[in-house]
Amino acid sequence: MLIPTTCFNCESACGLLGYVDKQDLSIKKLEGNPAHPGSRGRNCAKGPATINQLDDPERILYPLRRVGERGAGGWERCTWDEALDDIAARIRTAILDGRRDEVMYHVGRPGEDGFAERFLAAWGVDGHNSHTNICSAGARFGYTLWGGYDRPSPDHANAKVILLLSSHLESGHYFNPHAQRIMEGKLDGAKLVVIDPRMSNTASHADLWLAPWPGSEAAILLAVAAHLLRTRRIATDYMRRWVNWETYLDRLHPGEPRDFDTFLDRLTEDYARYTFEFAAQEARVPVERIEELAKLVADAGTQLAAHVWRAAAAGNRGRWPAACSSSTCSPAASGPRAAQAPTGGTSSSRTARTRRRRTTTGTS
Ligand code: SF4
Repeated sequence: MLIPTTCFNCESACGLLGYVDKQDLSIKKLEGNPAHPGSRGRNCAKGPATINQLDDPERILYPLRRVGERGAGGWERCTWDEALDDIAARIRTAILDGRRDEVMYHVGRPGEDGFAERFLAAWGVDGHNSHTNICSAGARFGYTLWGGYDRPSPDHANAKVILLLSSHLESGHYFNPHAQRIMEGKLDGAKLVVIDPRMSNTASHADLWLAPWPGSEAAILLAVAAHLLRTRRIATDYMRRWVNWETYLDRLHPGEPRDFDTFLDRLTEDYARYTFEFAAQEARVPVERIEELAKLVADAGTQLAAHVWRAAAAGNRGRWPAACSSSTCSPAASGPRAAQAPTGGTSSSRTARTRRRRTTTGTS
């Protein structure tokens, strides 16, 4: 018999069909579920390969408690009650002692939409850690501020321009449902723009590729926004309805007429410094590519599908914090790399700024 289920080898949560033996209820194989609205039966290799996890001889089926020194490799089996009592008692003691900051909840991939977060909040514990902290947290934070949710699904399939500030088209499993729609959009004539410091698999499919200095992507986006404002290639009705322009005027331009046209004029002036040249210098990308991007975005009108993830969300000061070690991110290591940068104009001053900050803050 066929049993619909969900793959959770990543957060895409694609649909799977389990082929189950009616006699002994063992799962014989897993395949993509064509009725699933997201993955539509097209899974990455990890989906069907889930079968390997079920009978893996190294699969951990019960709690294990360390015996001996940490790292010595000694473990003994214990019951779930023992494991839970032990962990709960330690957490309870820490909370009663006022040591809440010593409680850390770590999960590989938080896919439960905030359920665990509520427990931690109830305990007054702020220590929620996962790989997201050094991966997509920056992107999710921005999405949350803009849209109130952290993982949108842009309408790639019906876009004229698809702008990816990430490598998520196909350098991995994660955005399989997105990748399908991106390819549909491309087949329908959409232009694919990729902003990714690496020539990733995703970038290799781009009509336009920009490889910015990690952490400088915002400068490119500001330059595009400034272009849209200058040329008035903007969705004014949408902005009037959804942008909090009255508050903008109140806070930044008190005393100005409180009308939407004044807001647009002031906003255009406020963004005027984000020129193509400014972005090119910050991002170390040829200015013509930024101009080309701005034109594509303007021409797309409301049919722009954009997504931010990983690369752009994790870059900072020319590198990825997750990849830093004390040697690769030391001030001494910054010099030669910065000196090799293609546009020397800002690199030395940026390096000097970085050095000063590090000296002040003691970061490495
Ligand atoms: S993309 Fe692959 S790993 Fe992720 S849920 Fe879909 S089938 Fe599973």
